[in-house]
Amino acid sequence: MSENKELSIGVLAVQGDIEENIAASRNALREIDVAGDATKVIYPEQIERVDGLILPGGESTVVSNLITIQHGGIFQTIRKVISNGLPTLGTCAGMILLSRRAYDRVIGETKQRLLGNLDIEVERNAFGRQPDSFELDLEISLIGKVPFRGVFIRSPVVKKVGNGVSVFAEIDEKIVGVRQKNILATAFHPELARDTRLHKEFINCIIKNKQDKHR
Ligand code: GLN
Repeated sequence: MSENKELSIGVLAVQGDIEENIAASRNALREIDVAGDATKVIYPEQIERVDGLILPGGESTVVSNLITIQHGGIFQTIRKVISNGLPTLGTCAGMILLSRRAYDRVIGETKQRLLGNLDIEVERNAFGRQPDSFELDLEISLIGKVPFRGVFIRSPVVKKVGNGVSVFAEIDEKIVGVRQKNILATAFHPELARDTRLHKEFINCIIKNKQDKHR
């Protein structure tokens, strides 16, 4: 956790929407006039230093394999910082990675290594495969009345949520956005929406977390 006033957001730089999350975070910081920056993180010591962590959309099996074997196995570091309360945003593949169980229609249990910090079960590729990707306006009261453009690319759906999990976005009763204490997770890609409101919400969680720590 950084000591200074500048807020630091780390984007896990293994695979996927890394630059997109850096751009969305920087835009959000600028728009709410908060001093700070978003940077790529890949080494344990970087992950331990940030004030907030983003697990980007991409391909969860790739990310899960690479964080297990590379860079001294940052898997355990990520799991530890999140369970210690680090504000974390997971989008699409990031949501899958955070879940405690993932399965799909083709192979059933996906057997990928999951962080399990977020008490949800997900069905991967639940809306279909690449050609079935779509965009849709979502009502997300958490961030205001104006609909948020949900970008869904081979997205998961949350099939089960634990007691401590609240739902903030749904499509026809399919759960696509959840929160559990310090964790926000979306089945869609806010980093591709050209709308920074969810990243701002995440930044507000980081600010609140920092304030609570210094109380
Ligand atoms: N289908 C991908 C997975 O299972 C997620 C897709 C995405 O992040 N756009 O990891």
